[in-house]
Amino acid sequence: MSSRRKALKALTSLPLIGGFLGPSLLSAKVMEETVAKPLARDFFKELGLRTFINAAGTYTSMTGSLMNNEVTSAISYGATEYVNLDELHDKVGERIAELLHCEYATVSSGAFGAMTIGLAGVMCGMDEEKVAQLPDTSGLKDEVIVQEAHDIGYTHALINTGAKIVQVTTTKELEKAINKKTAMLWFLNANTEQGEIKWEEFVALGKKNGIPTFIDCAADVPPVENLYKFTKLGFDLVAFSGGKGIRGPQSAGLLLGRRKLIEAARLHTPPRGTTIARGMKVNKEEVLGMMVALELYLAKDHKKEWALWESQIKLISDSALSVDGVETEIHVPPHANHVPSLRILWDENIVKISKDDMRKQLRDGHPSIETVGNKEAVGITTWMMEPGQERIVAQRVKEILTNA
Ligand SMILES: *Cc1c(COP(=O)(O)O)cnc(C)c1O
Repeated sequence: MSSRRKALKALTSLPLIGGFLGPSLLSAKVMEETVAKPLARDFFKELGLRTFINAAGTYTSMTGSLMNNEVTSAISYGATEYVNLDELHDKVGERIAELLHCEYATVSSGAFGAMTIGLAGVMCGMDEEKVAQLPDTSGLKDEVIVQEAHDIGYTHALINTGAKIVQVTTTKELEKAINKKTAMLWFLNANTEQGEIKWEEFVALGKKNGIPTFIDCAADVPPVENLYKFTKLGFDLVAFSGGKGIRGPQSAGLLLGRRKLIEAARLHTPPRGTTIARGMKVNKEEVLGMMVALELYLAKDHKKEWALWESQIKLISDSALSVDGVETEIHVPPHANHVPSLRILWDENIVKISKDDMRKQLRDGHPSIETVGNKEAVGITTWMMEPGQERIVAQRVKEILTNA
């Protein structure tokens, strides 16, 4: 819909203005000036910023993912009306819970924000005095037990509440670490393989001891089933990022799980102002954007998308392999970033360029291409590319390797 028609529609849908005044051209003009609309400005160019083909993945520093038009339309729509923030969160929470067959849900400020408010909810329940007291944890349960192999830094979201992390490695150690100060058990799904205690046992340990369990699944769709799997397995709280595989707003996320705990988590969020999560606001635009991104993600043909990624990866792999001395490996990480991924390797005595220089040449070319990797290999995924960009990447990879 054009912005003028949208403005007219918005006007006529208002009973007072539509009824008494009618959608005069003058008021339509006023509306047009106040509602958000796409502008013909190339902001990144104006700012002197380099845009690029994302052959790397859903990296925070690379601004996560791109949003579908329906998501950006929902965001623009949100900017045109006032609603009550709590009521919006209530309704969207119900809708998401229904879509994901869990008790309750809320749109959080990223997966990181979901962890902070989730733990804060566990620590304070519905007690508003305790809510106002954080990050002072006196008199509260304030220890979170985490497997050492899972503690790769994201636990900072937990200590933001004032809580402490207690690291363990074995089941025995975990049971021994439980005491009357234990608030929660936290699991990092991405590092499932590295930890000794797996999902079912972890959940069972929580249930046996009456302690809530939380699983961080930030980057863990695909597969789409993960959105249901962990609440079904019995985790009390589950977090996903909005701006990774779901392709919603980068600063939004999902907190799923037990109604009682999520209602308690919400007490720490805006509009309430004297809480630790006042700065973890999710505005109405992003709440809607997150909801629509999730709807689109669930409705997607996931098999077809997977087949596309496989064919794109093969195209780039074949292109690299056409250069003498180059080898490739196609792999799928088990939990996080679970998509067809390519590693390009070569003997630097034959192909005379380092992996770092290869990434730099890809970045410095036109168009610029971002990849990942280390001293041994250049890493590529295609899930964050726009269709067709795989051909540009395939060609540039071959060109640089051939010229080396
Ligand atoms: C990305 C990520 C986060 C942070 O998620 P945001 O949505 O950016 O807040 C937390 N945990 C893991 C494992 C992640 O990959």
